[in-house]
Amino acid sequence: MTTTRFAPSPTGYLHVGNLRTALMNHLIARKAGGTFILRIDDTDPERSKEEYVEAIKEDLAWLGLDWDRLERQSARLDRYEAAAERLRGMGRLYECFETPTELDLKRKKQLNMGRPPVYDRAALALSEEEKARLRAERGAGHWRFKLLHERIEWEDGILGPLSIDAASVSDPVLIRGDGQVLYTLASVVDDTEMGVTDVVRGSDHVTNTATQIQIMEALGGEVPRFAHHSLLTGPQGEALSKRLGTLALRDLRAAGVEPAALLSLLARLGSADAVELRGDLDAIAAGFDISRFGAAPTKFDVEDLYPLTARYLHGLPFETVREEIAALGVPDDLAEQFWAVARENISTRKELADWWALCRDGAEPDIAPEDAEFVAEAMELLPPPPYTAESWGAWTAAVKEKTGRKGKALFMPLRKALTGRARGPEMADLMPLLQTVRDKP
Ligand code: GLU
Repeated sequence: MTTTRFAPSPTGYLHVGNLRTALMNHLIARKAGGTFILRIDDTDPERSKEEYVEAIKEDLAWLGLDWDRLERQSARLDRYEAAAERLRGMGRLYECFETPTELDLKRKKQLNMGRPPVYDRAALALSEEEKARLRAERGAGHWRFKLLHERIEWEDGILGPLSIDAASVSDPVLIRGDGQVLYTLASVVDDTEMGVTDVVRGSDHVTNTATQIQIMEALGGEVPRFAHHSLLTGPQGEALSKRLGTLALRDLRAAGVEPAALLSLLARLGSADAVELRGDLDAIAAGFDISRFGAAPTKFDVEDLYPLTARYLHGLPFETVREEIAALGVPDDLAEQFWAVARENISTRKELADWWALCRDGAEPDIAPEDAEFVAEAMELLPPPPYTAESWGAWTAAVKEKTGRKGKALFMPLRKALTGRARGPEMADLMPLLQTVRDKP
């Protein structure tokens, strides 16, 4: 059965880059009727925070990316220790004692000699006595996985056939000197034991994948299908990494972006398929195909989310917003009409409150000096609310007759006098909603 996972580390808020990974994995599982696991990668007790675990769940729930299973790495440390023990038994995990400074020095030397900075495996030559002495001097060592120096190959779901020479990669550290199990081992054990069949993640993980495949093979696990999506860049192709902090999902939510807009955009961005606004995840999943995505960096412009949000809102039937509109204080008998008028004129839900305030309290009129006299004359002809669908037509006809103005010179100053804005709903539709006109209390 198809099983995917989204494996965030709870060290910060989810951003659009994370969402892309989560969504792709979710859609693969959803389309296949499989299982989607939310796995919290919290083996680092210093950096992992419970508030981020809660925030991750909240953000995914907001988007409707439900998970079938929740796993936490911090609850599985014994599994990782057992796997490490097996690797030790096979001679594939070896203890090393170099300090960070020593490793740095080695790397610099290699680079100076024009060689790739790959760990030289000096620790493999240590005798038991030397290790005991180092342990006594420096404390417990860290543990590296011994790669087999051969080519590691896989058919990547996005990047196509990949082949990486294991000798060009350092033996990965799986356990730190203080005993902390690192992501590489934990992830491999989880993917294998949880029956993960498909892993989609960012292309910054390609080298990890190569080493993880060897660890999986060493542990006798089934190797999943891997796909690495390109990284997101800004609209000009600039790196997004620094700006990702400002693209947190919760900030976009606070700015009024709709889940449908985010999901529709990120499910297609970077693929050969056009972005189409879809209101629900099943519809998005139906057209989703990982092989349609390209390897080139994907440009993301946060501004694209707003027209999609507006289009989504324009299409929402009244029933879906009935409660929200009641909560604004719109009387029941006006609610449906208010929605019909307002939805065409909002780009986020937050603007509904502005339109209702305008209807309820009247707007600060916007009157150009050259129109002041004209508007004053017109206001004399305006009866107080309530208005009907005919009110605008009747009023403007009377004003036209009295002043001789017509067309835009007639309508625009009146619109701006009643709404304080140059644009907005049809005035004939808006007037019946006006409870107050500023100088007609
Ligand atoms: N916790 C890892 C990360 O956030 C997961 C990577 C993976 O998908 O294996 O990068």
